[in-house]
Amino acid sequence: MYAKLIECAERASLHLPPERAKRMLGMMPDALLKRMQAARFRRTVRLAAERSPFYREEFRRRGIDARGVRRPADLGDFYTTGEDLRRCGHEAFLAGRPDTAFETTGTTSPVPKRVLFSNRELREVGRAGAIGLRQLGLRREDRVLSAFDCSFWVSPATTREALHYIGCFHAEAGKIEPAEFYDRALAYKPNVIFGEPSWLVRLSELAQALGAWPIKFLFSGGENMTEQARQRVEAVWRAPLYLSYGQTEAFGAMGVECAEQDGYHRNDLNYFFEVADADGEGYGELIYTTLNREVMPLIRYRSTDVTRMVEEPCPCGLFVRRIGKIRARCDEMVVCGMGNVGPWVFAELLRGAAAAGAEWQAVVTSDGRRDVIELRVETDRLAAQHSLESTVFATLRERFPDFWKNHEMRLYELRVAACPPQSLRTERKLRRVVDERQMLLRRAM
Ligand SMILES: [Zn+2]
Repeated sequence: MYAKLIECAERASLHLPPERAKRMLGMMPDALLKRMQAARFRRTVRLAAERSPFYREEFRRRGIDARGVRRPADLGDFYTTGEDLRRCGHEAFLAGRPDTAFETTGTTSPVPKRVLFSNRELREVGRAGAIGLRQLGLRREDRVLSAFDCSFWVSPATTREALHYIGCFHAEAGKIEPAEFYDRALAYKPNVIFGEPSWLVRLSELAQALGAWPIKFLFSGGENMTEQARQRVEAVWRAPLYLSYGQTEAFGAMGVECAEQDGYHRNDLNYFFEVADADGEGYGELIYTTLNREVMPLIRYRSTDVTRMVEEPCPCGLFVRRIGKIRARCDEMVVCGMGNVGPWVFAELLRGAAAAGAEWQAVVTSDGRRDVIELRVETDRLAAQHSLESTVFATLRERFPDFWKNHEMRLYELRVAACPPQSLRTERKLRRVVDERQMLLRRAM
């Protein structure tokens, strides 16, 4: 009964002017939302226990009776990890008939994680996304041009679905060269542009040189962005750049910024969020349980992103609470202009380099405009710098076409630095990938 009430409110909110929709959703008491979440949580756990071989087996092994699970704490220290997805394969997680699939690649392993969904789930994601985009001012009369990469990536599909609810003009360029995008965009006069952060930075550099046109806002997601880079983009277009936070496993955005650009308003209707191993300030790993998924429900999925829940109301007045800016990743995977890179990528780049010693480290920084990845390699032949470099770049081109494409688009800079032996390891364990980009964290942090 409560779930029905919430669903009605969710639907109605799309047909009301944003101010009224916001007020209507905001009038719902917190207790109502919490009861809906609890009911959906119980339903998800039972569905998974009955139909998904992975959860059935895990619960059996741990002596968990799904019928007795009322809240996340009842599951003790049970979590689902990305490694479970890779190791067991998507079939082990299926609880219903899928209509479509997406992949997320290049984390700490070359094996992709595959996540499957139904068209109903896609529509629900679209509805939630539409509320967020309306809140940002997107209207039927706007013209969106998107440069999201369509290859197995979830964002173009969820964006398309959300824009369908808004009813605005929408064309998809795919992730093409920013210069080509610039030339071809002009014919459509888009006043809203969607693209990944590093790609938008590059497009904005071109626009600065060649001229920007009037834009309502830019919208981005898929990787973290420094506030410095955001400000550069905003200065060129004289328009705000809004970010969303999500994961393919979550089916796109779990939270979207508002005009305050101070944390992501989270979707509590479709996810139950927890923070694991929180420190004194509340920062820990973000964990989520999907609340409306029937094809591949995920229970207490470890996002590997470190953030905190922001329970204070936002000055924008939107009733939903926020997730703070992502502070770090738990593993060594780094999302940057190169793409999603982990230690295995650099190990592969160095495989054929005869002069490379066993020790190496990739350090990601930013020069304010784009990410700079310095691959430091120990070698007893410092003169071999040049041959190291040419091997790395040749392997990059042959083995990693996506990373090469981003390099060609100048979305990042890759440097190879020869270092003397025993210069890199200062602790017992050498951290292979280090993200040194200074996120200029604003008030949310
Ligand atoms: Zn807000």
